[in-house]
Parts: sequence; structure tokens; C-alpha cells
Amino acid sequence: MNENIDAQEKKDLPSNFIRDIIDEHNLSGRFGAKVHTRFPPEPNGYLHIGHAKSICLNFGLAKDYNGATNLRFDDTNPVTEDVEYVDSIREDVKWLGFDWEDREFYASDYFDRMYELAEILIEKGLAYIDSLTPEEIRHYRGWPTSPGKESPYRNRSVEENLDLFRRMKTGEFNEGDHILRAKIDMSSPNMNMRDPAVYRIKKSSHHRTKDKWCIYPMYDYAHCLSDSFEGITHSICTLEFENHRPLYDWFLDKLELYHPQQIEFARLNLSYTVMSKRKLLFLVKEKYVDGWDDPRMPTISGLRRRGYTPSSIRDFAEKVGVARRDNVIDVAVLEHSIRNDLNKHASRYMAVINPIKLTIINYPENDIEYLEAVNNPEDSAMGMRKVPFSRHLFIERDDFREDPPKKFHRLFPGSEVRLRYAYIIICTGFKKNDISGEIDEIYCEYYPDTKSGGLGASRKVKGTIHWVSASHAGNVEARLYDRLFNHPDPLESDDDAGGFLQHINPDSLKIVSNCKVEPELLNAKPGDRFQFERVGYFCADTKLSTSGNPVFNRTVTLKDTWAKIENQTNNQ
Ligand code: ATP
Ligand code: MG
Repeated sequence: MNENIDAQEKKDLPSNFIRDIIDEHNLSGRFGAKVHTRFPPEPNGYLHIGHAKSICLNFGLAKDYNGATNLRFDDTNPVTEDVEYVDSIREDVKWLGFDWEDREFYASDYFDRMYELAEILIEKGLAYIDSLTPEEIRHYRGWPTSPGKESPYRNRSVEENLDLFRRMKTGEFNEGDHILRAKIDMSSPNMNMRDPAVYRIKKSSHHRTKDKWCIYPMYDYAHCLSDSFEGITHSICTLEFENHRPLYDWFLDKLELYHPQQIEFARLNLSYTVMSKRKLLFLVKEKYVDGWDDPRMPTISGLRRRGYTPSSIRDFAEKVGVARRDNVIDVAVLEHSIRNDLNKHASRYMAVINPIKLTIINYPENDIEYLEAVNNPEDSAMGMRKVPFSRHLFIERDDFREDPPKKFHRLFPGSEVRLRYAYIIICTGFKKNDISGEIDEIYCEYYPDTKSGGLGASRKVKGTIHWVSASHAGNVEARLYDRLFNHPDPLESDDDAGGFLQHINPDSLKIVSNCKVEPELLNAKPGDRFQFERVGYFCADTKLSTSGNPVFNRTVTLKDTWAKIENQTNNQ
């Protein structure tokens, strides 16, 4: 196991600061010992592994405290949102194993109530229509170190504000002409409190409310109200909202509404990937990947297609715990979770990725034996299967060397190896292609008394290699996926003009079209997961496989090959 993982596993015993807060509330009776959380995605992209962390946290806490979790679409920006995203989010949350029952909500369902409450803010003298241009507003806001300036429109009368707000709603004005702002404090050291926007004009059709509205509430206003309407107790969000909490509290206090508690935790960051939806959308749109569910994407749909299991992702989320400070988790920790899971649960088969012919010259031409193979040594309940063996086999090209380096325990002229589940063989020669100089075929003899499981099985040789019988093998396409970026922090030198693209790993996908597999693997159903012995974990692709003709995606290699690369780099 790699050291990073060891260290991370020890450090990340579930942190309990959120539970501590809930326990305190339960003691004081603040929410009547109730726990009601929500997962509030904006449907403007597919969910990623960071969202999975938040989903596991929200649903997990509710489950532990016998509470409930709502799925709420935070759909307040019609320009970037779409039903395609709503559908994918529902599918992903379900696939992760969580159930929101009948509690599927949309911020847009509350637009009427939100509007009415905005009028109340105006009536209370706590909100006004500003008619400065967006640039002027930015300028008037000042800087964190210097106070802002009050807008000349700040002291409009309640009547004028109401009149303008209603006319904004009926579509009389253009985008940017006016906005509704909360009247708080232009010199607050917290920039979020300097008269934040509450409603803006957007003449866009909404994926649910269609053309009913041309003004839309801002996130900070819509979010706390939605939480309040739904009776949420603990509104868990990521750290960047810490400075928004005073505003969350302000709206609810001023409107005298039921008041949930906002709690912030550190967002999940992973090495060797990017997680912002904007960057992921860019990769999709510019075709650096084959869609949101490309197996190299950190999206839940990408991980699913890659072969990750829901339990491996939940296990990962648990392992990384909840932190109060931003940190970066080594992607090896995620890979470790899926290896652990598949090691226990995936059937093992033999598959040859880069085949070369091997002929056993003393094995009769037309004989076939069916040898016993263990499906998973970690789980005897998974049983045994029969693997056909014959005179003509395929083995990995890499398992043979004409001139072996020291300590090479596989095949070379004169060496002995065991064929997995079969016999010990000795290499007696090979044939080279005169023109290309490539080796075309390897010749061996077998020792009939060394059959696995038989009397001579105890004889030891240093190497064991996998193989498939040439006339029985299925020919399939294998897609060898690897990390999408070859830099631990692809955004390190990002300039917003796509600087992160220079770190795209050119070897993140290798397609092998003549991979030779045990015949049974031809029956693999889309989504089935396997270990190809000595090669890696694979799953049958859900999009590209057809009946009897699976395409296998490499989920992950058997060992962390990147740790070695990183160590080499560090030692330079
Ligand atoms: P992005 O920055 O990737 O666009 P977002 O925060 O805008 O993500 P939302 O759809 O608003 O995406 O997120 C829904 C929920 O998921 C929010 O509660 C948010 O805090 C949480 N979330 C988003 N990214 C992460 C992350 N990397 N780690 C943990 N939670 C996250
Ligand atoms: Mg967001």
C-alpha cells in the first residue's frame, strides 16, 4: 500500500464537528431533536465526486439521527440550467444509494412566495431598487479594505420602490436597468453585507417556470428562504459560504421566518483532476472528453461508467471525513477504495491485452482440457469455473524477453514458468519475423505431471503468467483509461484561458482492439466488473458494448503505478 494512503487513513477518522453541533442542538432542544438536511444542487452540470461527498454527508447525517433529507434543485439561474442536468442529478443520487422519497423540491416552486417576501422587505424599508449600471454598482461597492459608497437611489420611498419592483416583474425594463438590493450596510467589512442584490432582471425562459418570470432571485436570498420553507434544521454547505452566513441570518431574521442553522465544511479537492463545473463543461464542449460521462471525468456518471461502485464512493467519502479547512486529497485514496471493493467482489478472469502466440510443442494438436480456476480467492462462495487449455495459447508479449534483464522471472529461452491454473512450461525457442524483427511466436514444452491441483502441483517456479487458449479466446476491445491530467494540481498555473489544458495527460486513453479473453467474458453484460488477473480491474462499457461483443474499460490498475512515478520525480 502506498504511504500516502496509510497516512490519510489514519488521519481521517470521521471528524465529528458537525455531529457535535447537532448533538448540542439536540441537548438544548433548538430543533426539537429533529435533523432535516438537504442536498441543493444547481442543475447547471453533472454531479462530481465533490458533490458525492456532500450527498453522503447530508443523507448520512439524517440517517444517523433518524431524520430526513430533501433533494432540492437550486434553479434560480435560467440561463445555465437545463432538464438534462436535473435528470442526471436524480439518477446519480439514486445510484449512490440514497432516497429522498417524496421530498423532491425546486427553488423555482417558491418563486411566488419569494416575490411576496421581497415586497415585505421593501415595505419594511429593508430593500430598494437601484438603478445604477452594473459597473457603477461594482465601483460603489468599494474594496474589503475600504468602505463602499451609498447609491443615490438608496433612499427611494417605499411607494416608488414597490412601483418599480412591480414594473420589473411585468417586464417593462431591460436587463441591467434596475436591481432590487437589500439595504444593510455599505461600510460593512463583510462585502456580502454591502447592500447585496436580491432580484435581477433576466429575460430568459426557465426550464420549469417557462416565461412566467423575468426577474429571478439571487442565490443568497433564495437559498435561506428555501431552507426555511422546507423546515431544514442543518443547512450544510461548503466553506466559501462562511462569509455569506450573516446574510443568510439577516434575511430570515428580518422576515421573521423559521431559522435553520448554516454549517460550513471544507469542499473536497482531489489531486490530478479539476472539479469546477465550469471547467468540466469546457472539457465536454471542446471535446477533450467524450461527454460528461467520459470514464476519465470526475463526475459520478463518469466514475460509474469507469466501473466504480456506489459503495466504493461512499466508502471514500467516509474515509476522507469532514474537515474545517481546505485540503487536497490524493486521488490514490479514491483508487484505493475501488481496488478494495473489486478485490473482494469482482470475478477474476484471464485476459491478454497485448497478445503473442505461444505453442506447446509436446501437447497434442487436437487435445482440449478444461482446467479448474478459482473465481475469487477472497470469497469461496464465488465458486470455480472451467478454462479451456490447448496446444496454442496467447500470452502477454511483455511476459517474454529474448534477452531478459536480471531478476526477470517470466519467459525467456531456457526459463520455466507456471501457466496460471495449468502446467509448468519451459521455453525452447521462438520465431522472429525476418522483415520486422518482431517476435511472432514462442515455443515451449510442458511438464504433464505439474498440473495445478494435481500431484505435481507443488513444484515451485519463480514466475506465473496468465494465458488464453487461442482457438477459444474471444477478441475484444479494451480501453485503457488513466488519469486525465498528469499534474497533481492542473489549475496551478491556470489563467482562465484554458491554461490547465497543458496538463492533460496525452496517454489518458489507449484503445486496444485485439485483446484476447477467456470465452466466458464474451457474455459480460454492460456494467459487469472483473479483475483481469495481473492486468487490472475492468468493466464492460455501458455505451459501447453490444450483445456478445463487450468493450472493456480499465477501471484502475492493480497497483498504484503513479506512486512510483511521483517518487521518481521527487527524488530527482
Ligand atoms: P462547482 O463549484 O463545481 O460548480 P457548486 O458548488 O456550484 O459546484 P452546486 O450545484 O451549487 O455546485 O452544489 C451543490 C452542493 O454540493 C452544495 O451544497 C455544495 O456546497 C456541494 N459541493 C459542491 N462541490 C463540492 C465539493 N467539491 N466538495 C463538497 N461539497 C461540494
Ligand atoms: Mg453553487
